[in-house]
Amino acid sequence: MKKIVLILGFICFLTNSYAQLLQDKSNFTRQDTLRGSVTAEREWWDLTYYHLDIEVKPDEKFISGKNTIQYEVLKPNQVMQIDLQSPMEITKVLQDGQELEVNHQGNAHFITLTKDQNIGGVNSIEVHYKGQPKEAKRAPWDGGFSWKKDQNGKHFIATSCQGLGASVWWPNKDHMYDEVDSMLISITNPKGLTNVSNGRLKALMDNGNNTITSHWFVNNPINNYGVNVNIGDYVNFSEVYKGEKGNLDLDYWVLKDNLEKAKEHFKDAPKMMKAFEHWFGPYPFYEDSFKLVEVPYLGMEHQSSVTYGNQYKKGYLGNDLSQTGWGLKFDFIIIHEAGHEWFANNITYKDAADMWIHEGFTAYSENLFLDYYYGKEASADYVIGTRANIQNDKPIIGTYNVNNEGSSDMYYKGANMLHTLRQLVEDDKKWREILRGLNSEFYHKTVTTKEIEDYISKKTDKDLSAFFNQYLRDVRIPTLEFKIEDGKLKFRYINIVNDFDMPIEVSINGKKEWLFPDAEWKTKTIGTSDFKVDRDYYIEVNKL
Ligand SMILES: [Zn+2]
Repeated sequence: MKKIVLILGFICFLTNSYAQLLQDKSNFTRQDTLRGSVTAEREWWDLTYYHLDIEVKPDEKFISGKNTIQYEVLKPNQVMQIDLQSPMEITKVLQDGQELEVNHQGNAHFITLTKDQNIGGVNSIEVHYKGQPKEAKRAPWDGGFSWKKDQNGKHFIATSCQGLGASVWWPNKDHMYDEVDSMLISITNPKGLTNVSNGRLKALMDNGNNTITSHWFVNNPINNYGVNVNIGDYVNFSEVYKGEKGNLDLDYWVLKDNLEKAKEHFKDAPKMMKAFEHWFGPYPFYEDSFKLVEVPYLGMEHQSSVTYGNQYKKGYLGNDLSQTGWGLKFDFIIIHEAGHEWFANNITYKDAADMWIHEGFTAYSENLFLDYYYGKEASADYVIGTRANIQNDKPIIGTYNVNNEGSSDMYYKGANMLHTLRQLVEDDKKWREILRGLNSEFYHKTVTTKEIEDYISKKTDKDLSAFFNQYLRDVRIPTLEFKIEDGKLKFRYINIVNDFDMPIEVSINGKKEWLFPDAEWKTKTIGTSDFKVDRDYYIEVNKL
């Protein structure tokens, strides 16, 4: 009987997954595949360097210029895929001064190279382009250019493009698996306004025609969506933070009128740095400094120039996402977006389906910030409080190779999964070593979920495959069913994937103990009805 139930359950699960798969397949287009997979026209070359050099004309909402793309040849091939989304248009592509033929297929552009591409050779192409880029209506959720004005009527402009992709405003290899080793960003804009991009300002030129050009150099690998342009009537202040790797420049760029407010409010930035270097290891981009840059939208984790638009309020625009009070102890955007410097910018997903690596760990970092300053109970209150935001609508991991993100549960379910894992590790020193170890093992790398899983399984010496399958690849929350009769506790898990047998801590008559449930009923003599499950484990509990 039991066997039949199990088999039926399994078929149900299979059918659901299969239906999901069919539905997903039919929802994706050839454009999604071109955008989201490592095509043959991408695979043969490895990015080494970009020089993005553009002029931004705010009055016309127009940009034009070129991206010089330098790459190393890995395999023989003469066709290269470059991405740029409509309505932006490529005007010409050059290699060694020769104009090349381009075959346009929607947002993917296939360039036929005439020069022999010899393995190990380092070549470059120049992609010239222009247009009025997509305007962001609800940045950072949609992406594109935000063309706004500040309260004095001056231009206040910013880019954001996570998910949608950097090819919404500049031509590049728009897949996360490959990053340049360094990048130069040269932005020309009207005089009287300042542009802040990633990395360090190397030069500022007055072009004598009422425009200026700023050259920002990024001395580290950077993912495409991290690259940004922010133009406004900025003023700057800075401080030197004494960190794990020495002196780190913290630079702040805010609208002129907000200077005094920012000087007070941005005190969360060095506090953040201290907590996150403790938990995750050295800030990953000392060479490029750390910047907070005010923008006309909520914020984004742009590498080494985290953008800020939380209205100088604590919490998330003044709200506590955990409803416990702890969420008002910090500015959500400073803590969350800066947390991404470790998980998103240092350790970057290869495929958008694995975006939980960015958002799960970073949502989790919010409670580690609290842990550092207010202790373990406060941090647990916070992360457990955020469970109310979990939907369990679809799996956290999305569909691979089509630029598809999984459920937004990647944030708070992801965070609660990691909080649960911390309990299983049962040793906070070791847990911290794992978090720091991830950041050194995958330093400046792009990764898959599998690599993260394997690393944690190895370091904890536990087979965590069923655990990760349950929380990342299934929507069901494990449920502990129990009953107590005549001093005997009967218990089992339901709503679980195959082989899920996560131990949990419980209190029996006020005494802490481990319980080892799985899919089968088990009995334990406890001689009391005083039984409680530790709230730190993200499971449901059902007393029969
Ligand atoms: Zn985030």
